[in-house]
Amino acid sequence: DHEPEPSLATTGLTKAFGGVTALDSATVTFHHGKVNALIGPNGSGKTTFFNCVTGMIRPDAGRVAYRGRDLTGRPSHRIARAGIGRSFQLCRVFPRMTVLDNLLAAVRPRSLAGQLARAGGREETERARGWLARMGIEHLERAEARQLSWGQQKLLELAGVLMSEPELILLDEPAGGVNPALIDRICDLVRELNAEGRTFLIVEHNMDMVMSLSDHVVVFDCGRPIAQGPPSLIQSDERVLGAYLGV
Ligand code: ADP
Repeated sequence: DHEPEPSLATTGLTKAFGGVTALDSATVTFHHGKVNALIGPNGSGKTTFFNCVTGMIRPDAGRVAYRGRDLTGRPSHRIARAGIGRSFQLCRVFPRMTVLDNLLAAVRPRSLAGQLARAGGREETERARGWLARMGIEHLERAEARQLSWGQQKLLELAGVLMSEPELILLDEPAGGVNPALIDRICDLVRELNAEGRTFLIVEHNMDMVMSLSDHVVVFDCGRPIAQGPPSLIQSDERVLGAYLGV
């Protein structure tokens, strides 16, 4: 077995809010072509990590690289253009816009989303329909997003992320608040999309999902990695048990 190829990688990534160190010189590498998971107790810095690597907040120190290319401090749209897509814990969709328009808006500037979405090109509309079919919600294309169940809204958001054809997809708690049947559907989709060549980095509290889905798990505690490896090793790592149980 050869060395895994690096995907997203950080060196000494540091971010403090007032007196609270959210990221404490975090040096971590995720694997290209794999399903990676980032886990850790509440407050361990996972969200701040996502926000720093997607350009939503600026780190105080350290570097962010994607496939060897430096992206430190770049704005979100540049990070997106580099091939990195992201979903949010609290699911970002336009509630009063139709499902189809949400997807067209996902690849257009937000301020103009409404008008431009309706003028969406034929090719883009077909691509949007393709992703909706893939998510199993194509029958809802004319519904307003707010009419969808929470799990369906998560699928809609994922379809929106896929509209930009990212090669690395960051998912922030994809199973959070989602019913078990839809969790299975999301897992299947991640597996399929990964088999098609997309890399994933998933922050998730559902340990069954993390352990069954991921190839590589990184565990954060107090703003830095304390363990990393395949799920089988992580599950029995004493530092990991300690971080979760506070022993
Ligand atoms: P996780 O996602 O693992 O739960 P976070 O990255 O949300 O962890 O938080 C890490 C630490 O940083 C926590 O102590 C949290 O309270 C703090 N923190 C995160 N964002 C902010 C913020 N905008 N202002 C102040 N403190 C923050």
